[in-house]
Amino acid sequence: MKRTAHIVLAAVLLALAACQGEGVVAPRAAEGVMDSGIVDPAKGPVRRGFVMGEDGPVEIGYQVANGHAIYDGDIGLGPAEGIAATPQEARRRPVRPALSLHYSGASIWSDTKGVIAVREVFSPTNLWAALTQIEKQVPGINFVPYNGQYHHIVVYYGNGSNYYNGCYSGACEIYIGSASASKQLIMHEFGHGLGYQHEQKRCDRGSYIRMIDANPYPDQFATACEWVELGGYDLGSIMHYNSREFGRLHFTDLNGAEVCGYWCRTDLSAGDVAAWRKLYPAASIIVDSNNANNDGSVARYEVSANWSVGTSAGYYGTGYNYAATQAISDPATFWFYLPSAATKTIDGWWVAGTNRSTTAPFIAFNASGAEVGRVAANQQANGGKWVALGTWSFSAGWNKVQLSRWTTTGYVVIADAIRVR
Ligand SMILES: [Zn+2]
Repeated sequence: MKRTAHIVLAAVLLALAACQGEGVVAPRAAEGVMDSGIVDPAKGPVRRGFVMGEDGPVEIGYQVANGHAIYDGDIGLGPAEGIAATPQEARRRPVRPALSLHYSGASIWSDTKGVIAVREVFSPTNLWAALTQIEKQVPGINFVPYNGQYHHIVVYYGNGSNYYNGCYSGACEIYIGSASASKQLIMHEFGHGLGYQHEQKRCDRGSYIRMIDANPYPDQFATACEWVELGGYDLGSIMHYNSREFGRLHFTDLNGAEVCGYWCRTDLSAGDVAAWRKLYPAASIIVDSNNANNDGSVARYEVSANWSVGTSAGYYGTGYNYAATQAISDPATFWFYLPSAATKTIDGWWVAGTNRSTTAPFIAFNASGAEVGRVAANQQANGGKWVALGTWSFSAGWNKVQLSRWTTTGYVVIADAIRVR
């Protein structure tokens, strides 16, 4: 059984332009119908209109809530009056990204290198629990309080409707309908803000879920095959709807069981993590000498019981380990995961002291276990900060840097943290 990485990437109903010549770009009707997205009965009747896609006008179905056009149940497209009635009108309107469906909603955040300012007009109780959860699982994303940044996310009260409302003029609006909105709901809505679409819109979803024929809106569930998929289909994705989203049984899995989707999550699925990290790669990996501080999917620390715990001031994270130098194979090991081969600079951190080794041996190995470099570090100096140890070529998979005890005796070596950048 395959636990695949899920997909993601923002809405693109548009690549179709290329194969349809000029004029309207209709979303591909995988099930023989126009794709209107999923209907939330609370948001009123489905209307038809046109927005600009990457390659031309796209016809969509949408609902209106709080004056905003809503697509697929919870994806906002900006003020409803901005939706054009004809493709010609859509072309004439000034370019307003909020009214477009884009390939990559993540593009604006690449400008900010994953630093995302959050302006709280409304502060649901679980907001920062949700954001911290995302940061913890996707180290390349860093939410910070809004302080005038041009690109930012604004959280508004959604008056009962929960939806993401596209990005324009630098701001991505996210409407949350309740102060007690769940952590997972907020994570889902921010997922849209970060560029991710609904998992159940995937082109291959027929191999995983089955539509319910009695659904009064079966035509609202067409797939969108042009989106960029970043992994395999993931029924447990934070971006997968529940079978009964908006109070109606829409679909089951292939065995007829209901799918819980994001309702049952308190974190990102393994598939989400893999996919989100593709759009938001971490600038660096830190491996601390306390695994509680490590992101276990990319960093872990290993040491024998022969090493003591030290807490002298100046350490990274929470404390460090130390051991006497001697001719023994008993290293402290800092493991780090790379999705593909790369040349990385390794920094080390230690607490300096006069009893430290001046030739602490840091040895780097690739994922095959072959040594790729080593350095003798002077741990009597440069304590309490990152110190570059070397730049070496690592391979895809779990690489490691070991701090050996095997050097001039009469000292100790300090295993505190390394950084991979
Ligand atoms: Zn959604």
